[in-house]
Amino acid sequence: MMLEVLFLGTGASIPSRRRSPACTVVRAGADMVMFDCGEGSQRQMMVSPLSFMKLKGILITHLHGDHIFGLPGLLQTMGLSGRTEPLVLRGPPGFTHAVETLLELFEGVRHYTLDIEDVDDGDVIGIGGLRIDCFKTVHGVPSVGFALETADRPGQFNRAKAEELGLEISDYKALRDGKTVKGVSPEDVIGDARPGFRVVYSGDTVPCDALRAAARDADLLIHEATYRDSEAELAARYGHTTVGQAARIAKETGCAHLALVHVSNRYDDELDEVEAEARRIFECTEVPEDLRMYRLDGNGFRSV
Ligand SMILES: [Zn+2]
Ligand SMILES: [Zn+2]
Repeated sequence: MMLEVLFLGTGASIPSRRRSPACTVVRAGADMVMFDCGEGSQRQMMVSPLSFMKLKGILITHLHGDHIFGLPGLLQTMGLSGRTEPLVLRGPPGFTHAVETLLELFEGVRHYTLDIEDVDDGDVIGIGGLRIDCFKTVHGVPSVGFALETADRPGQFNRAKAEELGLEISDYKALRDGKTVKGVSPEDVIGDARPGFRVVYSGDTVPCDALRAAARDADLLIHEATYRDSEAELAARYGHTTVGQAARIAKETGCAHLALVHVSNRYDDELDEVEAEARRIFECTEVPEDLRMYRLDGNGFRSV
């Protein structure tokens, strides 16, 4: 079992030559969801290995343009491309009204259902086998962050013990399916189920307690880091987090890995320094480039 994380837009409010505005896709098997949908997200996804037709849900953290301007275009293209499966859309209070207003303004082809609702602190979204908890963030407008959890993973199969007990490779599948084979029961060779993965997506926010609670012991925290620490005053004024603050949150909450996104385009030529600044506090930090795909599995979180 593994989880793929595709960073489609890692920039902040203004797109740059190097970075698109906010958009991250997480896929766990057949369950694929998008967090935020900044302008150009559909084209970013077209040049990635994943198809937006397979998205089951799009979750928006707040109604600033750099997080939602890509949504009408993507919804239209899905319609024109023959989508029939319903699509889950969730966003903070005011989201449903905003999207319905936008869709009313334009003629479009759509043969699929939008399952659209506002969410707020404490709400839980179920998409396929994913559970996504919503928590309130602090950004000057209604805003939420999301904590995604996959279902428990099956326990580890102990091959050495299976061989010792006289089993052959052709017996393994039946055991994994819960059957007893040649007198050996699944519990003899398969360990306890392991907890699923937990990925937390901050959206735009100042450092806040609800996020800290959601991020506790997460496998991956995808956190905004709009400013470097030298501009902490601007970060506070505009409702954002600095690189160092995000790294400290990851460290203090016991996260395994941190990915920094929503990085201001003023740092496009100093991304190595941005990464170094975070790693001085929290070693397992990545500052992904647009279109970079990462894999999260039992061996960690790495670019593929
Ligand atoms: Zn933003
Ligand atoms: Zn914002």
